[in-house]
Amino acid sequence: MANTPTPSGAQDEGAELSTDLARALENGEFFLVYQPTIDLQTNAFAGVEALIRWRSPQRGVVSPDLFIGDLESSGIIVPVGRWALGVACSQGAVWHDRGYRFAVSLNISRLQFETEGFVDDVAKAISASRFDPFLLVLEFSQATILDDTKSALPLLQGLKSLGVRIAVDDFEPGRSSLDALQEFEIDIVKLDRTFIAGISNSKTAPSLVHQLVQQSKTRKVQIIASGIESAQQREELQLEEVDIGQGYLFSMPHEAEEIDRFLEDFAIFSGKPL
Ligand code: C2E
Ligand code: CA
Repeated sequence: MANTPTPSGAQDEGAELSTDLARALENGEFFLVYQPTIDLQTNAFAGVEALIRWRSPQRGVVSPDLFIGDLESSGIIVPVGRWALGVACSQGAVWHDRGYRFAVSLNISRLQFETEGFVDDVAKAISASRFDPFLLVLEFSQATILDDTKSALPLLQGLKSLGVRIAVDDFEPGRSSLDALQEFEIDIVKLDRTFIAGISNSKTAPSLVHQLVQQSKTRKVQIIASGIESAQQREELQLEEVDIGQGYLFSMPHEAEEIDRFLEDFAIFSGKPL
């Protein structure tokens, strides 16, 4: 990568960020944190979503909202996404080898998905780690799948043939529909955080969730509610028979060692720690 001189003006901050990001992968500055997902009916630990962080020597730990866009526009998301896939599968296999059988979910950017060799990358990450492919969940935005369905369909079929599961992120009942996704054999739909944030004050949200859950049962799609922050939200979703929940109410994202402690607590409390 080009080594640009250190810019001083604020407008060059973007360029500086890009230069730093270009070096971050080889310098080992990225790491993954994992946020638990919980079975809302039984309180059992259901899995984790892997989320990337950047430990920048200049900036400290940076959240992905501040750098994913840059990784995508520069194309660096492709090698970084490949790295994340390897780490998530290896960590999933470590947990699995210790007797924990839960899903590890990973976000996949559109550019990564559309880059030639993506399905092979997934196959290689699975075989290198010996992680059970059924426990690997790949999360895509609806736009990644629906904007170019002709290209998306064979790629998703390739992934499904490896045995991995597919999740659709940012699903908003009322705006999104399971019908539109039917041909893609989606396994999991993740209810959007902003939708969950408004659920307690909305007259329409509970019936929208109710309809979605009924549809999901006939289509064998699992529903995960993201961004649960309050006991009230959790109760409403539980009443509507939503399968799985994720959010600060249960746990923040943590590094793998802290998830280990979380898992030990689960064992101590015999599945009812919440
Ligand atoms: P996302 O896929 O929607 O991930 C969930 C985000 O919601 C995470 O933010 C998580 O920390 C946050 N969150 C979880 N529970 C709550 C809650 O109760 N309340 C609120 N307000 N937020 C909650 P994070 O880690 O900052 O990630 C932001 C986005 O960056 C992700 O959104 C995802 O789109 C992207 N991202 C993260 N890791 C990766 C990655 O490895 N690859 C790619 N391509 N994108 C990633
Ligand atoms: Ca996600």
